Amino acid sequence: MHTIQVKNKTFIPYLSEKEIQETVNRIGKEINTDYKNLQPLFIVILNGAFMFAADLFKTINIDAEISFIKLISYKGTRSTGNVITAIGLDELIKNKHIIIVEDIIDTGNTLHTFLPQLIDQQPASLKIASLLYKPEATIYPIKPDYIGFTIPNKFVLGYGLDYDGLARNLSAIYQLQE
Ligand code: 5GP
Ligand code: MG
Repeated sequence: MHTIQVKNKTFIPYLSEKEIQETVNRIGKEINTDYKNLQPLFIVILNGAFMFAADLFKTINIDAEISFIKLISYKGTRSTGNVITAIGLDELIKNKHIIIVEDIIDTGNTLHTFLPQLIDQQPASLKIASLLYKPEATIYPIKPDYIGFTIPNKFVLGYGLDYDGLARNLSAIYQLQE
């Protein structure tokens, strides 16, 4: 792995494809054990979580459903602070065991705003699986139940995460060089 250029910025290798895949397998195993006979519904937050969700879902060997929603709160390398629901949730949540799948918990604003909407629909249970977690950046009290990697408060991209729409296709994760 080597340094990459995306638009005007330089990014350095941070998490390899192998490390990511091992971690996704580990989370999948935990979910398979924790949700045996509960038939969870995975709710994937687009766009960033799509790659993590696809890899994670393939490791699931119990009965499970998956659905997708789109919330937007990010432009460039800074959170805009406003959460907009772009694609709504048409799935029935009531009495289901919900696992939210996120790429990263940064300020926590996205889920802090969105979770009450889900709780209103009375799920049987609600947990969060996030590939990345930046505790130093978290403003709202959101802590994922399943965490892939706890990382410092630096901008990252790749494996679904973008910089102005680019670099989601990378199989590894890179960190902004400061
Ligand atoms: P929040 O600040 O609400 O916790 O995170 C909002 C969203 O911003 C995340 O789901 C993710 O899509 C995006 N985001 C947060 N931190 C980063 C980052 O370091 N890199 C990239 N590419 N996106 C991020
Ligand atoms: Mg996201």
